Amino acid sequence: MKCHICGAKMEHIITDLPFKTDQTSIIILKDLPVSQCSGCREYLLDDFVMEHVEEILEQTDKSAELEILNYPKQFTPALNSSLVPPREKAAEREQVKKGNMVL
Ligand SMILES: [Zn+2]
Repeated sequence: MKCHICGAKMEHIITDLPFKTDQTSIIILKDLPVSQCSGCREYLLDDFVMEHVEEILEQTDKSAELEILNYPKQFTPALNSSLVPPREKAAEREQVKKGNMVL
C-alpha cells in the first residue's frame, strides 16, 4: 500500500496513539497496529482495527481525563489473519452484564 499524501511506502508498525473521546477525555491506546508512511509519517488505521478502537473507546470511563489502555493483541490483523471479529469476546461481556444484574 502507498501513502495517499506523498506516495511513499506504508509500513505496518505497532505504536501508541492518543484518542480524544470528548472535550476533556483522552485515551491512549498502546500496542496499536497501524500503517505508517515511511516518508511523511502519516498513519492509517485499518477498518478492522478502527472498529475495535471504537468499541474500546465506547467502553471507557468518560469521566476520566486520561486513560491508558492496551490494544488487545488478538485484534491485531498481523496476528489474526482471518480478520474475523472475535464473537466470543462479545459473549463474554454479555455474561458479565447478566451477572451484574443478578447481583
Ligand atoms: Zn506519506
